[in-house]
Amino acid sequence: MAELRVHNTLTRQKEAFVPLIPGRVGMYVCGPTVSGESHLGHARPFITFDVIYRYLRHLGYTVRYVRNITDAGHFEEEGREAEDKISKKAVLEKLEPMELVQKYTNLFHWAMRKFNNLEPSIEPTATGHIVEQINMIEQIIRDGYAYVVNGSVYFDVEKYNEHYRHESQPYGILSGRILEDMEESGRELDNQEEKRHKPDFALWKNAPPEHIMRWTSPWGEGFPGWHIECSAMSTKYLGEQFDIHGGGMDLIFPHHECEIAQSTVSNHSMPARYWLHNNMITINGRKMGKSYNNVIKLTEMFSGTHPLLEQAYSPMTIRFFILQTHYRSTLDFGNEALKAAEKGLRRLWEAYEVLGRLVAGAPSELDARVSGLLDGMDEFMNDDFNTAKVLANMFELVPIINGIRDGHVPPLGEPVLERLKSYFKTFLEDIFGLVDEKGGNNHVLDGVLQLLITLRKDARTRKDYATSDKIRNQLQELGVLLKDEKDGSVTISFN
Ligand code: ZN
Repeated sequence: MAELRVHNTLTRQKEAFVPLIPGRVGMYVCGPTVSGESHLGHARPFITFDVIYRYLRHLGYTVRYVRNITDAGHFEEEGREAEDKISKKAVLEKLEPMELVQKYTNLFHWAMRKFNNLEPSIEPTATGHIVEQINMIEQIIRDGYAYVVNGSVYFDVEKYNEHYRHESQPYGILSGRILEDMEESGRELDNQEEKRHKPDFALWKNAPPEHIMRWTSPWGEGFPGWHIECSAMSTKYLGEQFDIHGGGMDLIFPHHECEIAQSTVSNHSMPARYWLHNNMITINGRKMGKSYNNVIKLTEMFSGTHPLLEQAYSPMTIRFFILQTHYRSTLDFGNEALKAAEKGLRRLWEAYEVLGRLVAGAPSELDARVSGLLDGMDEFMNDDFNTAKVLANMFELVPIINGIRDGHVPPLGEPVLERLKSYFKTFLEDIFGLVDEKGGNNHVLDGVLQLLITLRKDARTRKDYATSDKIRNQLQELGVLLKDEKDGSVTISFN
């Protein structure tokens, strides 16, 4: 079998994947900041790395997949004032910070289950690892690469760069940024007056009196900087050096660049050997952002309740849509593309069902063609997880499968037919993690549902809103969401 090759952001090229310990893979992926509801931007990295996790396991590796929960200390370094996102939102919503953290963690886990993402092996929280973070910061101070000012601790980027550039590991090695440029340009950052140099970043922040989330430290009461948690937790669970570090491209700088600097000082080695980053999602060609009013929450996506959405899109449609593009390419969400993905997935799933009923015949020259397409699926996955090309091959197989059923394509020989069946199962279910969303439903239930929708429509026509609301609300309790469209039609989604 062809070897797995992955694109390494660190070297900017595709490399053969060779784990540190044969047969075992350590993978760390930056998890969500649970200060708000998960949105579409969260879908891509976690689906991408779920498929990578699944594929590594498929190749026979024992994988320890660590994905953290950022539940403290993630403040806006680029904002004018340092503020902890979580405690700020907690005050606004009048909740205990940990209550808020729990609420959004639960919602995040719910969305991950909807997407059929496997649970990571370990899901450590930042608040559960304050001691490890403090220890790491103390180590960095002892080595002379951090300094304390007014109860806060900053990483001395200039000093780091001065030393480590001689060891071919300058600050900027991952992002390709040059330190001198960062010093000259750039916006005014928070607490600039406390830092020795502009690019220095906080390892620990002194907590102002109004700050709710706070811990005692050798430097007074405060909270950790954002970057240190990932360095501390990846070291604890995967060791001083591990195989894969993943995340969205938006994390390359400053987050991952800072992680490299912290871990290198503390552990004397580059933390991860392969840095994998998924590209971003745009919506109708635009970057997602509050100012564009196009941040679509996952709950809105599944129910079709965001103004930009023409209908509800199921978790599997979104998952499939994401897999139809290579993870390193940009991906644009729009109603047309999503509807096409919905149709494509249905077509593929129907072919999979047809395939299960096909019986073998005499070998023909078609066998070689099918075998070639199946070989291609392995090759494409081994070529930096090219799910898009794998799916293209599967779509080439669909008319062959349907043609055999209809009798205008000759049947396949036994070995090839069995291999085709096994590949469809392995790729669709095990590696891509797709599930049949109609599972459990049947024609009777579909008919009953349609009947209820008709009865509700009749009730509304005669202005009997008590009945129509009763039908809608009781269906909602069962996880069936009805949405009334402008043209009078009703969209159904399953929660
Ligand atoms: Zn991280």
